[in-house]
Amino acid sequence: MKAKSKDGGEIELPQAVLDSLKLRLKGALIMPGDAGYDESRSVWNAMIDRRPALVVRCLGVADVIACVQFAVEQQLLLCIKGGGHNIAGLATADGALMLDLSLMRGVWVDKQRKIAHAQAGCLLGDVDRETQLHGLATVLGFISATGITGLTLGGGFGYLTRRWGWTTDNVVGMDVVTADARLVRASSDENPDLFWGLRGGGGNFGVVTGIDYQLYPVGPEIVGGLVAWPASDAPEVLKLYRTLAEQAPRELTLVTIMRPAPPAPWLPKDVHGKPIVAILACHSGTPEEGEKAVAAIKSFGTPVGDVLVRRPYAQLQSLLDGTQPKGRRDYWKSEYLPRIEPELCEKFMAHAAKIRSPHSVIVLFQIGGALNGLKNEHSAVGNRDARYVLNIGGAWEQAADDAANMAWARDAWNELRVFSTGGNYINFLTQDEGAERIKAALGNNMARLAEIKSRWDSKNVFRTNRNIAPG
Ligand SMILES: Cc1cc2nc3c(=O)[nH]c(=O)nc-3n(C[C@H](O)[C@H](O)[C@H](O)COP(=O)(O)OP(=O)(O)OC[C@H]3O[C@@H](n4cnc5c(N)ncnc54)[C@H](O)[C@@H]3O)c2cc1C
Repeated sequence: MKAKSKDGGEIELPQAVLDSLKLRLKGALIMPGDAGYDESRSVWNAMIDRRPALVVRCLGVADVIACVQFAVEQQLLLCIKGGGHNIAGLATADGALMLDLSLMRGVWVDKQRKIAHAQAGCLLGDVDRETQLHGLATVLGFISATGITGLTLGGGFGYLTRRWGWTTDNVVGMDVVTADARLVRASSDENPDLFWGLRGGGGNFGVVTGIDYQLYPVGPEIVGGLVAWPASDAPEVLKLYRTLAEQAPRELTLVTIMRPAPPAPWLPKDVHGKPIVAILACHSGTPEEGEKAVAAIKSFGTPVGDVLVRRPYAQLQSLLDGTQPKGRRDYWKSEYLPRIEPELCEKFMAHAAKIRSPHSVIVLFQIGGALNGLKNEHSAVGNRDARYVLNIGGAWEQAADDAANMAWARDAWNELRVFSTGGNYINFLTQDEGAERIKAALGNNMARLAEIKSRWDSKNVFRTNRNIAPG
């Protein structure tokens, strides 16, 4: 069987060598044609269609160690799949040995210490499901099928970011298999340089096998959901959004979305497909406080739909899942913003009006709060001046529509990027965004990351990521 070397060459792997790998594993070794191969190799974004030579469906840390040892011995290209949600398809690579961690999804909650230990293949929903049994939560993202590890290693934000910072600010430790196939702990006490780099530097330093998150009391009942209006109301709705977001307590997170209305049951049939503007809100304090905090949204104008209500926090965490299914073609452009200016709102509306597909969206996420209180050098993620995330999210179904939808996203970005902090979210970068955008995402922390890379992975074993060259 032929595979790819980490330097791009071709390697022949005789059957006896493959058999020796099989003997070291508890999980299955699968290859093209085997049952489960296509499920493992496919990722969320259908624009990515790559074929690893070998896939190991790891069942534990020992399997991960065996795979790293094997990849190093054979000089193989290695890729690591968590939730497979990275839009650039970083989880998969042609000819590589793929470590598919999707069967490692255990979560253990220590409710006294308020810590959750999650295996690296968990999806966000796995963690919320277990922590909410105790009325606890950590900072995770908006779509429950996203993988925890890719999200955390790149920063991570969601409804609780305003209160507790980036997801990665709430990591107390990680278990990591290094390039020399050792299992080590990364925390503020053990290997603090590695810990610093992992919190923003992606999968550059090893294979993370487990993450410990700090938990906080949240819910189980909160106030959250959406109110939507026709897009013709957008000038007033965006004005309302700006005003409310500026005054909002940290318990309240507000998101504005413009898009063609999806065929959701809470929107009347005659609105489906027509342009709407919506405010998505989460108040993570008491439901009574929450209802007061969102009253001005619910009473505003004449909405076409309103599902901003008391509901379980875990339900809110998956409310938008249906809008982001696996298997569409996706292309995003994104920036961090320091504030929302009226001129930005004008351009935001103008480009929303030019959306080319029923699935595309243009979104402003509010994240300002706790993350701004830490120094840029606190961890590799940086971007401590970001208060909003702009995401221009193109999504469509047919390859024939690629050019038109990508052009829409690029045009919108070219006009809106002037409002940026200069930084961007590394986890939202698409496959055609390279070194310059990575540098903008990591800022001044880039040099220290390169040093840490040379200490922990001088031969660049871990390269199918937003790669940092060893310094
Ligand atoms: C629909 C959708 C919604 C999203 N919403 C949010 C959101 O609300 N908030 C937010 O912050 N982000 C969000 N994201 C972005 C998300 O953070 C990234 O896509 C992230 O990469 C997903 O992690 P994953 O494990 O699913 O990724 P994968 O595609 O599996 O992996 C991404 C990268 O991480 C590396 N990696 C994965 N697991 C490991 C591991 N165990 N050890 C070392 N490296 C590893 C991979 O090698 C790869 O380089 C969203 C993405 C999508 C597609």
